[in-house]
Amino acid sequence: MHAEILSIGTELLMGELVDTNSSYVASELAKLGIEVRWVTKVGDDPDRLYEAIDRAFARSDVTLTSGGLGPTSDDLTRETIARVCGEEMTVQDDLLEHLKGLFAGRGFPMPETNVKQATLIPSAVAIDNPMGTAPGWWVEREGSVIVAMPGPPREIQRMWEHEVAPRLKERNAGIAIVTRNLKTFGISEGGLDEILSPLFKSENPLLGIYSKQDGIHLRAIATASTEEEASALIAPMEADVRSIIGDDAIWGEDDETPESKSVALLRDEGLTLGVVEAFTGGLLCNNLTEVEGSGDVLNGGAIAGSADALVRLGVNADSIEEHGIASAALAKELAKVARVRFGADVGIGISPLALESADGSVVAGTSFIGYAMDGRADSTSGHYPTRRLRIRGRAVTHALLGMIRFVREMPLEAVRPRR
Ligand code: AMP
Ligand code: MG
Repeated sequence: MHAEILSIGTELLMGELVDTNSSYVASELAKLGIEVRWVTKVGDDPDRLYEAIDRAFARSDVTLTSGGLGPTSDDLTRETIARVCGEEMTVQDDLLEHLKGLFAGRGFPMPETNVKQATLIPSAVAIDNPMGTAPGWWVEREGSVIVAMPGPPREIQRMWEHEVAPRLKERNAGIAIVTRNLKTFGISEGGLDEILSPLFKSENPLLGIYSKQDGIHLRAIATASTEEEASALIAPMEADVRSIIGDDAIWGEDDETPESKSVALLRDEGLTLGVVEAFTGGLLCNNLTEVEGSGDVLNGGAIAGSADALVRLGVNADSIEEHGIASAALAKELAKVARVRFGADVGIGISPLALESADGSVVAGTSFIGYAMDGRADSTSGHYPTRRLRIRGRAVTHALLGMIRFVREMPLEAVRPRR
């Protein structure tokens, strides 16, 4: 079965809106073993939209559209599908009742323009959308399918998970794809490529190697007729990878992030965290806060913009003088201050960036990351040439991966970023 994705909306063509829906749908289709052959972006223009939908319907087993289901006159997905099918849209009493109920629940009458969200054509059935007002359309004709889904990411994602994916899975029965992602650090991409070289010869499962901000990912993909069979193909490959590179080199699996892994580790160990961020401006705490349950483990964090601010937080002015503001010793002190300040078990301190150093002992743009817990303290460092979000994000990733190793009493050398 092969598919085509159509992202609909003039904002997409103007560069005003980033098309995240098509990458979402594409990655979900891959999980179902459905090959994506085309991804197209098209504006809210009746003729070009007609051309795009007509062509997709003719050449693809499944066409997935996003957007254009709103109530306004530039939302034309329904009208265009009706035109492609040569069918007439009619208002459905049950859909209209439901829609009016939604508006009544919000305390105002339904605008007349919304009526078109309660229409169908004979070849379409409505797809439930509990996150919004526009139901989707599942259209089937001559063995081909068009699935029209709403634009807002939370609406399309809910609809995909609960309505669309299960139906497509049923249609594509007999093919199952299972992936397993092992996330590593401490071994370079070239190094992994070399020690794992015999495994790269396998075709099913297929092993891929990807360099990401949070280390090198090793992804195995297996195809079989059932999920169980595909998983059974992956298992020996995973065991081989683990025995070759060692479990210590793997920090996470599948959808785990440095943030989710950190929160889970601290929670499992019954530990709390305090943070002082003098380079990352609160980004570490912000990222952790995205993880559910972070409130139970993150006692608090402080942002410091200058040496004076560090002193006000409790850092010894003499040790700044002695070691320099960007130094391993100071990073460890920041971590200790973070523990005390927030009454936490584990402290992380991220030092300010080193400036040009006269004697060349510290490379400009280096930040030191310190950790403290019980009577122990340790540090690592990385080179972060600018204050851009992406670069600071990298420092946060290193700080969290380092924390995971530090809490497990593993050497920190491995988290030194390798480029
Ligand atoms: P529409 O149904 O076309 O009016 O889209 C409604 C809203 O959904 C837009 O204003 C965007 O915020 C969002 N949206 C639409 N298409 C996409 C897309 N391809 N990727 C991400 N967001 C989208
Ligand atoms: Mg639109």
